[in-house]
Amino acid sequence: MSYTIILLTILLIGGILSATFAGIIAEKKGQNYTAFFWIGFFFPILGLVIAAALPQKITTSSENQSVSINDTKKCPFCAETIKQEAVLCRWCGKSLS
Ligand SMILES: [Zn+2]
Repeated sequence: MSYTIILLTILLIGGILSATFAGIIAEKKGQNYTAFFWIGFFFPILGLVIAAALPQKITTSSENQSVSINDTKKCPFCAETIKQEAVLCRWCGKSLS
């Protein structure tokens, strides 16, 4: 009987470890920590593989802001935000060249 308890303990510790790893990997890639914690807990290898295979999310707020600032300008006619490369304002239709 004690073997069962030892086996269950090993499974539980392994599950929590892989769950934590899956969660940390997922969080580093900008994904939901809790979701991958539970996937890693119930499907240890699957959770780790999915977390490792995740694409890197490019939505770190600072990067995103700098890109959008450099990428846009204000229309001198209607003051709406338009793209830097625009030659025609999409709001008022005036030529900016
Ligand atoms: Zn305009």
